[in-house]
Amino acid sequence: MPNQFDILIKNAKLRGSESLTDIGIAGGKIVSVEKGLGGEAGVTVDAEANLVTESFVNPHLHLCKVYTLQMMDEDALTAYQGEGMGKAMNAIELAARVKEKYDKAWIIENARKAVTQAARFGNTHIRAFADVDSKARLEGVKALIRAREEFKGIVEIQVVAFAQDGWVRERGTDKLMREAMELGADVVGGIPWIEYTEANTQQHVKEIFDLAMEFNKDVSMLVDDAGDAGLRSLEMMAVEAIKRGWHGRALAHHARAMALYPMPYFQKIAALLKQANMTVVSDPHTGPLHARVKELLAEGAFVCLGQDDISDAYYPFGRNNMLEVAFLASHLLWMTTRAEMETLYDMITVNAARAMNVKDHELKVGGNANLVVLNQPNVLEALREHSAPRVVISHGKLVDQMKMESMWNQ
Ligand SMILES: [Zn+2]
Repeated sequence: MPNQFDILIKNAKLRGSESLTDIGIAGGKIVSVEKGLGGEAGVTVDAEANLVTESFVNPHLHLCKVYTLQMMDEDALTAYQGEGMGKAMNAIELAARVKEKYDKAWIIENARKAVTQAARFGNTHIRAFADVDSKARLEGVKALIRAREEFKGIVEIQVVAFAQDGWVRERGTDKLMREAMELGADVVGGIPWIEYTEANTQQHVKEIFDLAMEFNKDVSMLVDDAGDAGLRSLEMMAVEAIKRGWHGRALAHHARAMALYPMPYFQKIAALLKQANMTVVSDPHTGPLHARVKELLAEGAFVCLGQDDISDAYYPFGRNNMLEVAFLASHLLWMTTRAEMETLYDMITVNAARAMNVKDHELKVGGNANLVVLNQPNVLEALREHSAPRVVISHGKLVDQMKMESMWNQ
């Protein structure tokens, strides 16, 4: 007789519950959540009264650039992180220098290391950006598509073809972006604020949506990522999403200029975001300004957190450890009450999954079996320690941490 469960987790503490329960997993799904589950199981995991939750989800990572900091001088980092983010556009221009050396052969090695770390830290879903422009060409896209295939069933990667250096100002990007979509990229990615004029910004937004609609793909755009209260690309993006019927299929990243918006304009933006069913991904640890996360939450808008960078021209650290991201965010956003910590935890699990359109990412019967068994009994301690989970379950199977460890050490 076959096992009733592929995996049986005993003595699990669920969020918001004081008592312990058991979780049965079969065929990639959560099939039972109740105390005293019996039956045969392929693997039994004793959670020992520690927290078991949905696995971590990272909706924003520049995976083609991970570990490239050592190939660069620090000029870009200095420009991006400088006071008030006045030189963020120059930082992107300086960071582009590394792309003259772009080659999928070394990009895939770096990407593998970063995704391996994601698996160790219980991060099972990543929206990964690959630069597409005249320097990077399609090297990053090819490397990330390969990583997506290699890590299937362990870490699910959505590859974003990303026009990092602009659409209008960077000649030939439109053609390369189309080729990237034909190669099999999952998401169309733009950065409209980087264009020189408002008309060009509008054109950038429009043509990204045109491509997304043609290939029936979601949109991700880095918007208003500089210290300029006059930037309006988040607004343009939300308006375009509504106009095109792309509700819930357009994800906005950064929106750091929002920190400087006058209150009446912020209120309009919050209303537009809700109307477009659009989430903002904030990465407050990678720049001196950040979207108004607490105020957006208070308005009922959707917000989640992303890793953004790992040791590249913009940010020197990062481990694909979303508990670490939430830990840093709790300081930068001053979200330190119990309720706020629970919100932060949602922002790296269920809300991030929702933002990426990852379906059924919920710890309940019928949910997909993407889970972490932590070494801590509650969210406060999980954030305090931000250590690797004791067990990671991805797509209904245990992640082989020995293998991940040895890949990391290669
Ligand atoms: Zn970014």
